[in-house]
Amino acid sequence: MIPVADVSLNGHELAYVTECITTGWISSLGKYVREFEEKFSQFCGSKYGIATSNGTTAIHLALAVLGIGPGDEVIVPSLTFIATANAVVYTGAKPVFADSEWTSWNLDPARLEEKITPRTKAIIPVHLYGHPADMDPIMGIAKRHSLFVVEDAAEAHGARYKGKRVGSLGDLSSFSFYGNKIITTGEGGMVLTDNVEWDERARQLRDHGMSKQKRYWHPEIGYNYRLTNVQAAIGVAQMERIDDILARKRQNAALYNELLQDVPGITLPPEAPWAENVYWMYSILVQDEYGMSRDELMQVLRANEIDSRPFFYLIHTMPPYADSITPQEAAHGFPVAAQLSQRGINLPSAPGLTHEQIEYICRVIRQNRR
Ligand SMILES: *Cc1c(COP(=O)(O)O)cnc(C)c1O
Repeated sequence: MIPVADVSLNGHELAYVTECITTGWISSLGKYVREFEEKFSQFCGSKYGIATSNGTTAIHLALAVLGIGPGDEVIVPSLTFIATANAVVYTGAKPVFADSEWTSWNLDPARLEEKITPRTKAIIPVHLYGHPADMDPIMGIAKRHSLFVVEDAAEAHGARYKGKRVGSLGDLSSFSFYGNKIITTGEGGMVLTDNVEWDERARQLRDHGMSKQKRYWHPEIGYNYRLTNVQAAIGVAQMERIDDILARKRQNAALYNELLQDVPGITLPPEAPWAENVYWMYSILVQDEYGMSRDELMQVLRANEIDSRPFFYLIHTMPPYADSITPQEAAHGFPVAAQLSQRGINLPSAPGLTHEQIEYICRVIRQNRR
């Protein structure tokens, strides 16, 4: 089976992890945590990086830093991984779901303002599958309405918006380093910001809310969201190879695009003129013209030893969130996101895919059209 994603740990990962073990620095103190925070925040063009235990705790921590809580609303795309909405719920606030746009497959800035109420405190644009959200209009709307913007960049390490790396564009941002993400620490995450006060507050909240000046004095209820030195050691080794990983992903996407561009009924992934997509997942849409449904194509791929994934379900359609919108909104409020969710497939996207494997996958897609 050609996998959708793989993990490649053949750089200095083993050497750095071994060093953690031989020196005994396996918990969350140790030089690699700071080094990983510095290298990754610098890579993204942000001043401060606060490593966390995973990408979900990173979003939660960013929202906690902003003081978001019960009674507040936070706008999120309905088409994203569930963690974006769950992290809002962890604060006591309510996620408000918004539609996507065709240009970027992300939050539609034109349909954002209709979601704003006096309770709205923040917007979380997600850079889905590696393509940046259209940040300038989103930031403009946020500014006009005095809202915070937290980027969920869990799927888009290194992607660029108008030349700038995602994660450096909002007030705060969050990343994930889960095993299938662009770089990994096994489990892990990071919050980025340029604001020194938010950096300090995030560090305090990450460590049980303990005062920096007074050990075991806790002015507020915090969390244990720390990353271990062992995980950070893997992250530092992965950072040595991130440029190579991103280059491979873009090369693979270029080959996919070339071989699939004229297959009727197959829509290629977007790359807006202002964007550099990192193709975390190389994704296509299966239109009616292809002659079989998305799910049928996935079965054909599977029968040919090719793994794939469907796009995420819209979050507001799942049980915990079913009451979050009116039936009217559910039926008509998400025309673009609903199409994307129904028609989208993530194809194998591992950086280690060979030319021959991509040619084979495209041949199967081309030849099975009805
Ligand atoms: C992976 C992911 C997360 C959560 O990251 P974890 O490290 O699995 O907690 C959040 N948001 C998006 C969009 C993701 O893809």
